[in-house]
Amino acid sequence: MNDGNDFFDVVQGHLDRAAEIVRVPEHVHTILRQPKIEIIVNFPVKMDDGHYRLFKGYRIQHSNILGPYKGGLRFHEVTSLDEVKALAALMTWKCSLMGLPFGGAKGGIKFNPREVSRGELERITRRFFHALGGNIGPDYDIPAPDVGTNEQVMAWAMDTYMNTVGTVHRQNAMGVVTGKPITSGGTPGRSKATGQGLVHCIREWAERNDFELQGKKLIVQGYGNVGSHTAVLLGELGVSLVGVGDHSGHLYNPEGFNEHRLQAFVREHGSISGYPNGVKITRDEFFATEADIFVPAALENQVGEKEATLLKVRLVAEGANGPTTPAGDQVLENRGIFVIPDILANAGGVTVSYYEWVQNRRSEKWHIDEVEDRLERAMRHTYQKATDFSDKQQCNMRTACYALALERLTQAYIERGIFP
Ligand code: NAD
Repeated sequence: MNDGNDFFDVVQGHLDRAAEIVRVPEHVHTILRQPKIEIIVNFPVKMDDGHYRLFKGYRIQHSNILGPYKGGLRFHEVTSLDEVKALAALMTWKCSLMGLPFGGAKGGIKFNPREVSRGELERITRRFFHALGGNIGPDYDIPAPDVGTNEQVMAWAMDTYMNTVGTVHRQNAMGVVTGKPITSGGTPGRSKATGQGLVHCIREWAERNDFELQGKKLIVQGYGNVGSHTAVLLGELGVSLVGVGDHSGHLYNPEGFNEHRLQAFVREHGSISGYPNGVKITRDEFFATEADIFVPAALENQVGEKEATLLKVRLVAEGANGPTTPAGDQVLENRGIFVIPDILANAGGVTVSYYEWVQNRRSEKWHIDEVEDRLERAMRHTYQKATDFSDKQQCNMRTACYALALERLTQAYIERGIFP
């Protein structure tokens, strides 16, 4: 599935292709090919049995030319510097594409969050944020949830940061992370935002292609935040989830899963394993399931040449970051399977994170309707811009999205120059 690619090289390749379309001064292209700051911290945590374990954490700050660094925090056993660098760069493109006043960053800690207790998880989170110290901040670098992290982790992160900035600045520190629980300064609509944004993109695509969503079939890889919310929201439009996979295996149900019940099951048990209403299938059988839409919502490099050949769908909407390898992309294009690329498809999360950050700065609480209306307008508007660009330039949507993002970044560099 990996096709031998390093994730960071893949993301650089997307930038290089976009740079063939957009007129980019060489120095801007060179700057954007590397992150501005790479932070690695090794920090000790006292585990429940009394011994100290050393953890490795990363925070990569790719670009802040358009605003404070912004990007998620991942807890996963395969997290690496290369992975976090790639994810940080993707955030720069995503925020630029969406017209948000943010740059791009990403963080991660290399460990399996399922193998530690709740108390250990809290201490790991707090020790990491303490170790990051002044390298993050509401006007400087703003983390958010990603794979293996959630609202609770963000609440601990905010609390740790608040307690290090001094009493006078405490209340101004709420915007240091987004994706918080609502009572701790979060916004309504954030937890489902990435799935919701994905569904707006899918609806745009369906409307443009006279594709009736009602009665269609969906397969989803990854049933965490992004995968499960997407399935639930598409279920409300009459799309039935017939295949699902995660780190524990794959399930098939030709009658369609109850998306809500499966979501509740995964929240309680941590995976789809043991869910009673489905037949176990292999990974290859999952990819070869007869369906209409595939949403990868797990990790990067999941759809290589083999998986792209197996797929029997008309649309791939990338919930995950970097799920398709270049070879996989080529096969999908050759087979006429349309791809809504990650930096557009999953941008609903950072867009609503921006709304949360604005509310924190202004001490406001928006109604869910306001969040939802703004998100729908933002997603549809950007989708339309990307489609127009891809029609005009005769390029695919991925290249169109990268090119639009690059245009805005280039303009900022041209206007501002390089200091001093
Ligand atoms: P999550 O932790 O809630 O869920 C991750 C899912 O991936 C789980 O179902 C897990 O079982 C599955 N998974 C993990 N390893 C796997 C493997 N080796 N094979 C198959 N499945 C595996 O994470 P999430 O927040 O839903 O993020 C999923 C993807 O969406 C990631 O690529 C993330 O970067 C991207 N994303 C998330 C957000 C967000 O708001 N949470 C926003 C934009 C993009």
